[in-house]
Amino acid sequence: MSLGFARKMWALDCPTLTVDATTLLYGLSGMITIPMPSFLIEHPKGLVLFDTGIAPEAITDPVSVYGQALADGLGISGDPSHAVDKQIEALGYKTTDVTHVIASHLHFDHAGGTHLFPNAKHYAGEGELAFAHWPTPIAAFCYRDDQLARIRGFDWHEIPGCDVDLFGDGSLVIYSMPGHTPGEVSLKVRLASRTFILTGDAVHLRAQLEQEYHFPIDYDTISALRTLKRLKTLRETEEATLWITHDPDDWAELKHAPYCYE
Ligand SMILES: [Zn+2]
Repeated sequence: MSLGFARKMWALDCPTLTVDATTLLYGLSGMITIPMPSFLIEHPKGLVLFDTGIAPEAITDPVSVYGQALADGLGISGDPSHAVDKQIEALGYKTTDVTHVIASHLHFDHAGGTHLFPNAKHYAGEGELAFAHWPTPIAAFCYRDDQLARIRGFDWHEIPGCDVDLFGDGSLVIYSMPGHTPGEVSLKVRLASRTFILTGDAVHLRAQLEQEYHFPIDYDTISALRTLKRLKTLRETEEATLWITHDPDDWAELKHAPYCYE
């Protein structure tokens, strides 16, 4: 296997949620504001999107998308330029340039813009597509039937519970990270200058990683804890920076589009 690199990576600017902190980690108190980014990666063999954020229409009118009760609990803040398609266009691409879309999982705050990419190849972890349509009661609010209906006919590739080297050169590796949901995945992105692991919701906050505490509404807590340990191991062996999707400190310290990691 030849070793390759992804050329560029952008963390796309995004709306935020402001939620009760105990919904993210037992023992916290007060409210916490967290980002919901997507990541665009340019590779010689394709333009890859990791997650698609919340539905664009939910940025300006969350009540019509989620209903009053859920919208009130989410505290969405953002402007229309934060929509994933607008962010991609601001970098000089068209949404049709995106060749591969990888869903960390199909929760509404990660897959809400997926319908904007009808011609891409779509990837999800094992069991995610079925679970999204028939979730456990505690997780049901995270999956939106109307959003799933829009993407049902897409070119889906369900990864069979293993790691997938997307272009065969080791630069973009989809890691199976079950626990938060059955099909949760993370993505390794190896650039010339550094390596990131985009965690998705395999972990939500730095503190959760250090304490090895699962997330309160995880599908499978034993798998989730194994996944946390796996992330910590990969951080060492891959000499990688973990980019925790929702962690406000990661978002503050790492750079966003238009800044480009190369
Ligand atoms: Zn989630």
